[in-house]
Amino acid sequence: MATIQAIEARSVHQIQSGQVIVDLCSVAKELVENSLDAGATSIEVRFKNNGLDLIEVQDNGGGIAPDNYANIALKHYTSKLSSFDDLSRLNTFGFRGEALSSLCALADFHIVTAQAQQVPRANRLDFEQSGKLGKTQIVAGQKGTTASVEGIFKRLPVRRRELEKNIKREYGKVLNLLHAYACISSGVRFSVRNAVGKTRNVVVFSTNANRTTKENIANVYGAKTLSALIPLDLELEFEPSAATRRAAATNGEQLNHIQLRGHISRPVFGEGRQTPDRQMFFVNSRPCGLPQIAKAFNEVYKSFNVSQSPFIFADFQMDTNAYDVNVSPDKRSILLHDAAALIESLKTSLAQLFEAADQTVPQSQV
Ligand code: ADP
Ligand code: MG
Repeated sequence: MATIQAIEARSVHQIQSGQVIVDLCSVAKELVENSLDAGATSIEVRFKNNGLDLIEVQDNGGGIAPDNYANIALKHYTSKLSSFDDLSRLNTFGFRGEALSSLCALADFHIVTAQAQQVPRANRLDFEQSGKLGKTQIVAGQKGTTASVEGIFKRLPVRRRELEKNIKREYGKVLNLLHAYACISSGVRFSVRNAVGKTRNVVVFSTNANRTTKENIANVYGAKTLSALIPLDLELEFEPSAATRRAAATNGEQLNHIQLRGHISRPVFGEGRQTPDRQMFFVNSRPCGLPQIAKAFNEVYKSFNVSQSPFIFADFQMDTNAYDVNVSPDKRSILLHDAAALIESLKTSLAQLFEAADQTVPQSQV
């Protein structure tokens, strides 16, 4: 009979890391969220060969204190959460201390960081596969942090081959995700660049540290897209489930309703799009995939405009007890405790909104 024995620590790290960083989107998401958590007002994302060779995120946030260098990429080391109780009061994107440790296991990872008082000096920190701090050296740099990921999935050959095969599609998905962060972040300048083959790097899109999501949308998608949108400004009221009420009571909070803020295509032929690739969902300004909610939006929209898909930018502002972000290692899915009731209420409100919206064809289309 075969002996039952423990898997070697390095292999365990490899396997778990592949669950935290599942694709190119995970890499960009984790690095951008770290920059936002660090209070950055300017974030530049740079790709080489659509991310296959390099994904690098530079911010002008607070930088990392030298005392913390050795712990940056150790698994479950975080400056954002110290106990499970803190989870319901979370106001940072990160909290598990797993992203950087996972990137070390899957790629070559290094950081250049400087706090204000160190400038013009910065420290370049190279990390080992295990997440341990390796070589350090003093370099020139500005305030903030640059995190560089080279050769993503080089240590998971099957996943690397898959990524290479589907790189066009995967790169498109990352851009959509970055659009979402750029549009929702007020007062943060985003700039995304890519260098393919021997060509110089080109700006893919950028925003101007605008105050409003409207201005961000105009920067990312153009003024024409913006002019075809109507505001989404809905209050969704429904009975919270017993489970949600119990969670809220424990934390001494009141659950009443959900506010939905954002922008959506006018339900008029010519104002939607042929492809459903411009649909962004957020919970308390956190970009996330909400497939059931997306489906509800599209269904209601289709009952007004059969042949097109709407542009959707929808931010659900709700009590932090009404959902759980800690459901998967990649933190991408959010569990809404009262999804069914929310969707019913959403459908009714959306139908009323479209009913009331100007359904006449705009002058420019006549
Ligand atoms: P988490 O975000 O869950 O804390 P990470 O592995 O993403 O875990 O990051 C580990 C720690 O490294 C963070 O808690 C933070 O203190 C620090 N850090 C990471 N990226 C940055 C950054 N861009 N600016 C400042 N500090 C950072
Ligand atoms: Mg993080």
